[in-house]
Amino acid sequence: MASVADEGVAGKTAEQVEQDRRWRERIVAEVANALLAGWDQFAPEGGTDLEEIEQRVQRLLRLGGGVIVEHVAEGAVGNLPRPVCAGCGKQMEVACRRAREPEGLVGRYRLQRTVYVCRHCDRTAVPADEFWGLGPGTLSPALSRVVAAAAAEIPSFAQAAATTGETLGVKLDPSTVALTSEAAGAVAEQDRQAAVAALKEELQPAAGAAPPALPPPAEPPTFLLSVDATKANADKQWRDVKVGVVATLGPQSRPQADGRMTLVAGPHRYVAGIEPTADTLPTARSGVVPRLPAQRATDRGRRSVHLELHREVGGLGDQGPRGC
Ligand SMILES: [Zn+2]
Repeated sequence: MASVADEGVAGKTAEQVEQDRRWRERIVAEVANALLAGWDQFAPEGGTDLEEIEQRVQRLLRLGGGVIVEHVAEGAVGNLPRPVCAGCGKQMEVACRRAREPEGLVGRYRLQRTVYVCRHCDRTAVPADEFWGLGPGTLSPALSRVVAAAAAEIPSFAQAAATTGETLGVKLDPSTVALTSEAAGAVAEQDRQAAVAALKEELQPAAGAAPPALPPPAEPPTFLLSVDATKANADKQWRDVKVGVVATLGPQSRPQADGRMTLVAGPHRYVAGIEPTADTLPTARSGVVPRLPAQRATDRGRRSVHLELHREVGGLGDQGPRGC
């Protein structure tokens, strides 16, 4: 039944709400048929204990899950515009409809997609795959993430396949787990490299320009200096990394709740290095590290430390420090 809440939330007319209701009813009827058709295969009543009953029901429910995903996913790409060619910019034409059957988190399903081709340079494109985030593998994006996470935790691909398969009620091949894990690693590496490149551009001074210097401190100069240390793996050995923050203090002062007056910290500068502390800290004043707005000190500081580490340890090329 169409409810006021539905109309209010989604901004739908009563007619659209009614259409949605009928669409959902059709899907639920198909789910019921799928469960009935598959009941004999998984026979929940054949389970000898609660664990086995649950496992059988889970496998049975995947049949229904697949039906729902199929309808909802295809509905979502029903009105995608005809794409333009990424090579020459011309409008692409429909080449064919082709199905894929990914294994997903809640079931296996069959997705019909429109394949487009460029008549000028023969490129093809499948906008639906792009919209869904469906990669080239046989697993859905959500299942891929679960499988990749398991593979990262569990040393053997066969064991990761067995554990994940048992948890989700899906049969997974160790080679599929290996491929998915590798693909996820490649994507993560691409994302990380893009993030590092963006940070470099944002934080590094323009080519040829002198690094920004701290403004001259008030007389007599007063600095806030805070130092900490951590370990970092650089060039295959663990090194002590000194991290510090330096800021000018004053001359402005501010009253505290207890009545004391404290000097106000000026612009912050962050430094990190693997050389001895006595050599590390002066770089904080020498303008090697880009100056950052004080109001974003925490966030920017962490990032600038990463960037500076990258510069200090050298030899890592574009890879930067681990975990950056
Ligand atoms: Zn083209």
